[in-house]
Formats: sequence, structure tokens, C-alpha cells
Amino acid sequence: MKAPASEQLILLEIQERDTRLAQLQHRSKTLPEKAELVTARERAERLRKELVAAQTIVSDLEREQAKADADVDLVRERSRKDRHLLDSGEINDPKQLQSLESELQSLAKRQSDLEDVELEVMERLEGAQAAVAHLETALVAAQGDVERLDADVAQLDGEIARERGAVESERGDLVGGVSAELLGLYDKIRGDHAGRGAARLYRGRCDGCRIDLPPSEVAALKSAAEDEVLRCEECRCILVRTEEAGL
Ligand SMILES: [Zn+2]
Repeated sequence: MKAPASEQLILLEIQERDTRLAQLQHRSKTLPEKAELVTARERAERLRKELVAAQTIVSDLEREQAKADADVDLVRERSRKDRHLLDSGEINDPKQLQSLESELQSLAKRQSDLEDVELEVMERLEGAQAAVAHLETALVAAQGDVERLDADVAQLDGEIARERGAVESERGDLVGGVSAELLGLYDKIRGDHAGRGAARLYRGRCDGCRIDLPPSEVAALKSAAEDEVLRCEECRCILVRTEEAGL
């Protein structure tokens, strides 16, 4: 293929923009803040689930506590009535009195057992409430991290998008100076070779693959016409001759 040397030089300018665009895309994809954001979101989600589970435990224990309180109240009330009956002097039958005494004893034992249950439930409830409070604090912190990282990512992506816009606009201006045929070749090579379509020939070395050209090839390039589109034998990109080509 043939193309004026001036157009070939523009390819280097376009390549510079394309390399920058690839860097910007890579930077956007690999922003550490994005990975941190994913981790922070996962953490907040996990904490939210743990909080719901802990809140369920608290409400279960609150119900259990209300039942334990009611059980104790019931036994206390029964004891109070028995005691009242005993103290009233209305019962004179020794058998009845003895049975009342023994009921009071068993009620006292029952009350003590129920109070142990009540205490044990209260302790578990306190533990569960502390867990809820702890999770609430952790969740607020995690949500704060998510918001902060979200804002950081939006800002960084915004900066990247602005720079990409500027570089794309420069590229748009540059491609106007190159024939469709040359640009097509450049874009094809760029697509096939990891984003590099053109490279400078610099002091006998291809700037794309950084490999010194063998002397035989240098000799061949030396005799090539100025408008000959040259290719690097190694990396296949268009070799653009500059003043420092070293030929
Ligand atoms: Zn090369």
C-alpha cells in the first residue's frame, strides 16, 4: 500500500490517542475503588441480613420473656390467694390446712423455678439486644463506606469519561487527515494486534515491539519509497519513518 508520508505520520498521532483510550478504559475497569465498592456492598448486605436475623431473635425472646413474666404472675397470684385463705382463719379442717400448706410450698418452688427461667430469658434477651446494637452500628459504618466509595467511583469515572471525550475528539480531528484505506489498514492491524496498529521506526528499531530490525531489513527499508507503507516483520504494525528512523 502507498500513502503520503504526512498521512503516515498522522497515524502515530492517532495511535497515541488509541493507546491513551485503551489505558483509560483499563483504568476505569480496574479502579481499586470499584473493587472496594463491591466488597463494601457485600459487607453491608451481609450485615443487613445478620441484623434481620438478630432482630428476629430479639422479638422471639421478648415474647418468651412476656410469657415467663405472665407465668410468674400467675403463680404469685395463686400463692397470694392461698396465703389469704390460710390467714383468714376460715379453714379449720387440719387436712385442708395441710393440703393448703403443701400447695403453698410447691407454689413457692414453682415460682422460684419460673423466676430462674425469667432471669435466664432476660440475660439472653440482653445479649441479643447487644448483638442488634452492634450490628446496627456496623451497618451504618458499612453503608457510609458504600456511599463514600460510590461517590469516589462516580467522580473518578467522570474524570475518565471527560478525558476520553477529549481524546476521542482529538482522534476524530486526526482521522480526517488520513485516507480511508490507510485508516482501515491501521484499524484492522490494531484490532488484530492488541491495540497497536502503527509504530515509529526509531534508530533502526520498531517502537511497537521494541525489537531491533535485522540489518537486511533495514537495508530493504532504506531503499523503500517515501510513500511506501512499511510493516514490521515482527509485530506486523505499520512502521512509520520519522527523522530519527535511523536509516
Ligand atoms: Zn514491531
